[in-house]
Amino acid sequence: MPPTGANTKVKDPEYCNWLKVGLGLYYLKVGLSFFIQGEMSAMHKFLIQKLYNGSPVPATLCSSCNAKDVKQNRNSYTWKFRTPCPQRLCDTWLTELLALHINPTSNKLYCENCNVTAWPRASWECAKLYMPRGQTGANKGPAHSDSQALLTLMANCKYFHRKLSQGGSIQLTHMVSTIRNKVMHSGDMKLSDSDRKSFIQDIINLLEDPCHLKSLEECKQAVAEINRVLDIILNATTEQFIPKH
Ligand SMILES: [Zn+2]
Repeated sequence: MPPTGANTKVKDPEYCNWLKVGLGLYYLKVGLSFFIQGEMSAMHKFLIQKLYNGSPVPATLCSSCNAKDVKQNRNSYTWKFRTPCPQRLCDTWLTELLALHINPTSNKLYCENCNVTAWPRASWECAKLYMPRGQTGANKGPAHSDSQALLTLMANCKYFHRKLSQGGSIQLTHMVSTIRNKVMHSGDMKLSDSDRKSFIQDIINLLEDPCHLKSLEECKQAVAEINRVLDIILNATTEQFIPKH
């Protein structure tokens, strides 16, 4: 059984491994947040430019549409609003966002994550279309998301694919996503030394994507924090593992 309580000595090396990889995923999320926020903002500006030819977003936004009205056609598997948006905004944005999804006919597409009427104004409401089910209105940015939500966003959105493929890192998003699932679903909260080494290296490799991430201060700090955790001796107290952020 893993120890309980922040003051309890960590005595089980395999529990210690599990904790280190869990913290590695936390620092991954912190390190990626700046990049992801910036890229989502850039993608949003790109869509506004495409849709309105440089003009501002229409002043009057839709107040009618609801994410629950986005349904998947049983024959074509395409996703559409049950009735057209009266402002021709929400359905237009849905079409554009689906065009940037790597699998727009997937049945694992969760419009209910989003405030659909906010798509023309809020880049993060667009981002949530590419995330796993369960995002709520309280998720206002990367800081409110877990590592899996950010990894899934990058894995599902072509905009990130184009970026991360340049450094050969897109496959890493899938690998780290698998790691996160193994850690979160580990019934005994333990990992072997070899798994810990391999998992941490994959997390660091993603943070060190040579084209877009390695030079970012946020990613450098995340790698430094992961290495700090790894350097703590095995019999350290759990207090020493608690993130400073
Ligand atoms: Zn609408």
